[in-house]
Amino acid sequence: MPISQPTVIRSRRVVLPDGERPADVLIRDGKIEQIAAHGSLLAGDRPDIEGGLTDLGETALLPGLVDTHVHVNEPGRTEWEGFATATRAAAAGGVTTIIDMPLNSIPPTTTVDGLAAKRKIAEGQAWVDLGFWGGAIPGNVADLEPLHREGVFGFKSFLAPSGVDEFPHVEPADLEAALAEQARIGALAIIHAEDPAVLEAAPQQPGVHYRDFLASRPADAETAAVARLLTALYKTGARRTGARVHILHVSSAAVLPLLRQARADGVRVTAETCPHYLTLAAEQVPDGDTAFKCCPPIRDESNRDALWEALANGEFIAVVSDHSPSTPDLKLLPAYGGSGDFAAAWGGIASLQLGLPAVWTEARRRGHTLADVVRWMSAGPAELVGLTGTKGAIAVGCDADLVAFDPDGEFAVHAAELHHRNPVTPYAGRTLTGAVRTTWLRGRAVDTAAEPFGRQLTRPAGPRPGGSSAPTTRPTRSEETP
Ligand SMILES: [Zn+2]
Repeated sequence: MPISQPTVIRSRRVVLPDGERPADVLIRDGKIEQIAAHGSLLAGDRPDIEGGLTDLGETALLPGLVDTHVHVNEPGRTEWEGFATATRAAAAGGVTTIIDMPLNSIPPTTTVDGLAAKRKIAEGQAWVDLGFWGGAIPGNVADLEPLHREGVFGFKSFLAPSGVDEFPHVEPADLEAALAEQARIGALAIIHAEDPAVLEAAPQQPGVHYRDFLASRPADAETAAVARLLTALYKTGARRTGARVHILHVSSAAVLPLLRQARADGVRVTAETCPHYLTLAAEQVPDGDTAFKCCPPIRDESNRDALWEALANGEFIAVVSDHSPSTPDLKLLPAYGGSGDFAAAWGGIASLQLGLPAVWTEARRRGHTLADVVRWMSAGPAELVGLTGTKGAIAVGCDADLVAFDPDGEFAVHAAELHHRNPVTPYAGRTLTGAVRTTWLRGRAVDTAAEPFGRQLTRPAGPRPGGSSAPTTRPTRSEETP
């Protein structure tokens, strides 16, 4: 229920689309109504707002994060995570919108019935706003348009096995059929890009050593998959039809030149990376600590530096969590009596509540600003899913989804104290910088002990979702850097 009385949030550090400055933010009926000079909104001309003021002092005010890559896993695998636990963790971590992935739940979101099952069970359980991705799997081309009409934000496909039987990966012919249909209906295709043939040919050495696991998921698997996807796009006439594709969780910087070339050739392709690829490195993973296992894997320090360089250059539209938790026993964690075998453990990182401080800790060390982090984790993902103008910015007319963030607040991560359902995260024991003090959703402070008031979102009508980094016109050869 939106508030009707206007309120003001004041901070010396309001992160606006054009940078950070002192400001007063006036909120009415859940939306940002005005952004005024710091200290100006309690003047005599606005007696209506007297009393409704929160002064954050030096604590920064950010737009709520938009996390377009979250595996909630409910219904079907609710013991891994669920709408209540995931959205509480999101709110506590400064994330005010999540888009749920179509797999790991049973049923998966590959049919209208599957979507309806998720929507029904999520009802009344969401502390933040919530949307849904659909899935494109072999044999469900006819389901894509009905799902699109129901408001999913796009369709995910895997080019290699997903890890769960009910969400099979696409072979080349399936992929081409799905891409052609998505181009026809104007949907965004989101792709898990690892190549199954490269994975099969890689050395398989089970055990507790992370380097063996890393060798089993080489960077070549990502580059080969992206190359295959781009071939399919050319074959299906992506440049003519304006198909939009987005590469999920890029872990290897080696794919970036392929994406640059494709964009130069007029293909509308964007990419994301994740906090764990930016803040963790293979060299630091202890033997048997399968909390660090994800696919594609966390790679070495030099690759991590290259990802940061690409991020700084605007080559990633978004940094999103890929929160994909499971139970400690499926992680085979030694602390829970498991074998610590990287090959057999569930692959997925739990980090929804920690993405903002994890990225800020490393971003600050590398000389980036809060405005950069907001661009990567709030405005960028909002743009990816077509929510610009509603989410992802402190701007007049946007939802008043806001975060009071202390950029200097340090805290030690204790996995059991997080709102995630299971106490497993690779950040356990680390000290992170940057503390979320309050999260507002549409103008109301979120209290995870009170009733939830998150809403279910559908893809906005109108222009297709897209990214500014995806040119719609083809540059001429002469415009490219030699
Ligand atoms: Zn994922």
